[in-house]
Amino acid sequence: MYPARRFAFVCILCGTIILGISPVWLPPPAACRVNESRNASGAVGLAGAEVHRQARRDRLAAITGEVFSGSEIRENLRTLCDEIGGRLSGTRNGRQARNLTERLFNRYGLEQVHQELFAMFGWERGPFRCEIVTPHHVAMHAVSLGNTPSTPPGGIEAAVVDVGHGNPAEFDDLGHEVRGKFALAVSGAMPGGRWMHRSEVLAVAAEHAAAGLLYQTRQPGHLPMTGMCWKNEVSPIPGVGISREDGEWIRRQLERGENVRVRLEMSNLTGEVESANVVAEIPGRSNEYVLVGAHLDAWDLGQGALDNGTGTMIVLEAARVLVQIGATPEATIRFVLFMGEESGLCGSRAYAAAHADELPACRAMINCDMTGMPLGIRIMGHEAANGFFEELLADMHGFELTVGISNRAGIYGDHQPFLLAGVPIITPRSRLEDDAWMYYHTSADTFDKVTFKQLNLAAAFVAALALELASTPERILEHLDGNGVRALIEKNNLGEALSFWGDWPHEE
Ligand SMILES: [Zn+2]
Repeated sequence: MYPARRFAFVCILCGTIILGISPVWLPPPAACRVNESRNASGAVGLAGAEVHRQARRDRLAAITGEVFSGSEIRENLRTLCDEIGGRLSGTRNGRQARNLTERLFNRYGLEQVHQELFAMFGWERGPFRCEIVTPHHVAMHAVSLGNTPSTPPGGIEAAVVDVGHGNPAEFDDLGHEVRGKFALAVSGAMPGGRWMHRSEVLAVAAEHAAAGLLYQTRQPGHLPMTGMCWKNEVSPIPGVGISREDGEWIRRQLERGENVRVRLEMSNLTGEVESANVVAEIPGRSNEYVLVGAHLDAWDLGQGALDNGTGTMIVLEAARVLVQIGATPEATIRFVLFMGEESGLCGSRAYAAAHADELPACRAMINCDMTGMPLGIRIMGHEAANGFFEELLADMHGFELTVGISNRAGIYGDHQPFLLAGVPIITPRSRLEDDAWMYYHTSADTFDKVTFKQLNLAAAFVAALALELASTPERILEHLDGNGVRALIEKNNLGEALSFWGDWPHEE
């Protein structure tokens, strides 16, 4: 929260005595170089609030100018996608991605650049074959889901039963029908029901003694979708992602009363692996910090260009630009590229646990995951601080942030462990190309799907947001205590989904 305040102080950086009553405190300049040029152009005579507002505009001008004249996003994403590609944690590609981004942080002149190791449950895709054997032989467009086990030698064969969206009520209606069969579920929420993660659907299928889960994507294009399907261990039954078209074909056969049987054979590698988060800083004057994060790991089928090459590039470019403009913020700006997100937020959980003592010093965590054209911001809770951000967004009107501020909270991202610890969370509200979700977690998530103008705008936006939050003498957003977190989770109906993962009720 930021109180309206009367102020009379000497602005250290401008050397100006400022007197006034301001409904909104505007931060002092952060970048000395930018600030000096402003003094030379005559801003000293302006009223205090105006001086600060002009200093903010100068910072924004420096950031946007640097991004649009020196962006390295395209070349960095090309390297990450074409020379490394998919990068699951614990794999060689994952390690290469960590080393690449560590080198870039060092080259950009960041400080405290290092990798923080952690252990996690790892999974790697092996040979896979999935086919319909009756009523006709059809090779399926299908992939194994993350953390799914190997089948016994020779594979398994079973009939298929349609379980709708795979909600518990739908399974209950089918009773013993599911036992020993492949449960065919399509992604999405049944009317009036909550959207369930594929791991939750698999859990219900396993409770009903299904032979396995065939999880159908809603997106067209014969693009089966992968994704994590169990947490921290091998799932109790096999899980397979299948294309929308194959799922619809099976459904049409079942509606005609045909007995559809599927044969599945797969072999996957599992076990504990070592991974690491990549960390870098722009040091501030206080012990507080703003954390700018994104997950670096990506599914192995494609190149992880959208998920999450976009967020990774935004974090790297924001770091580069803020060093380039000579930003000297009050609070440290810490950049963290998390591994293990796709495997169950392993990197961010490990980071939040290892840094529990200093989480109270975190002014805000800004998370970028599949971020595109910036349209506004989501501040999870903290409605009382919206005024500060409304004014900030008004100063950034050239970005055309048409959807403004939302205070809804969400989960399933690296912000989650921080949210549950009470750290203020901000994510950009943004838009990727209309077809981006078609490629999500598929083999088609590749470099050519990215629109660089969107990413450059997002990098400038996130850099500016981080710098403004790090430049105020005091924090704008207060941490939530246990009651505050509980109220936020309840208000946003997130308790049931969190409970499934053992993350709720929250231990304080
Ligand atoms: Zn992601």
